[in-house]
Amino acid sequence: TPPADRQTESGELRTADGVPILISININDPAEIGALDPATAGVGLMRSEFSVTSIADVANEERQLAIYRRVLEQADDRPVSIRMLDIGADKPLPGLEDLPAVASGLRGIRLLLAWPEIARVQARALLRAAVFGRLSVMLPMVTLPDEIDRMRELFREEAEKLGRRGLLHRMPPIGMMVEVPAAALMLDTFGSASFFSFGTNDLTQYLAASARDDIDADAATAAPAVLRLIAQAVKLAAGKPVSICGDMAGDPGYLPGLLAAGLRHFSVAPARRPAIRSAIIGLNADGTRAAGE
Ligand code: PEP
Ligand code: MG
Repeated sequence: TPPADRQTESGELRTADGVPILISININDPAEIGALDPATAGVGLMRSEFSVTSIADVANEERQLAIYRRVLEQADDRPVSIRMLDIGADKPLPGLEDLPAVASGLRGIRLLLAWPEIARVQARALLRAAVFGRLSVMLPMVTLPDEIDRMRELFREEAEKLGRRGLLHRMPPIGMMVEVPAAALMLDTFGSASFFSFGTNDLTQYLAASARDDIDADAATAAPAVLRLIAQAVKLAAGKPVSICGDMAGDPGYLPGLLAAGLRHFSVAPARRPAIRSAIIGLNADGTRAAGE
């Protein structure tokens, strides 16, 4: 069967043995939302840190709201998962890199919680943007359940303030990246996360003790350990939505292992979609190659 025949207009994609698979895209530059074709489920990861280039941007609620709103409107009712700012020493923001907290390695949600003024601005922009589409919010570099609880509380407080000001808003589902090994091992304790998305870039780096720039070289070495950790973590997810948005998802060579681990939703860079689509069609859901492929 030619690949296109197994894919309906709605973008439904199935493995050779008929198991439905979702493919979403990762976007960095908000303009990449233009790559959302009808065969794509939605945006599995928008890296919001790429939308800010200065401290002034980080403090600008209206600017962030306008960017998120545009992405949600263009997604046209398909789900969009916007990740809160993942800023740190390895993802520097000009003017911020000299902060002692950043220099000492604080990153992702820990930085947001240590500097709630930033998180509150972004939370308000996200709460207000949520009325324009199917938004969910993803938290970066989560290590402990308490970090989610604290961010949820912050969202509740900001929602209340918006309500008092008479500004339209909606509470989005709040989920987490699974990219810190300590969180992956304990995933069953993250009751307050609404969904999980595996970030294999950081997961690989922290499992393999590699420098981030050497990930490609180390990824192959660490892959069996990463795949085993993902498979274990999927079992701990207790039926909550699970996806993968790290670079491993865009490499057809890892697809058999990721399918075997139980993953059914892959979010990849737009350029990786064709290769992943055609690979999925040739595989069974347990990751074995289909007969005749
Ligand atoms: C990851 O770590 O796999 C991920 C998707 O996040 P980023 O690449 O932005 O660190
Ligand atoms: Mg990451």
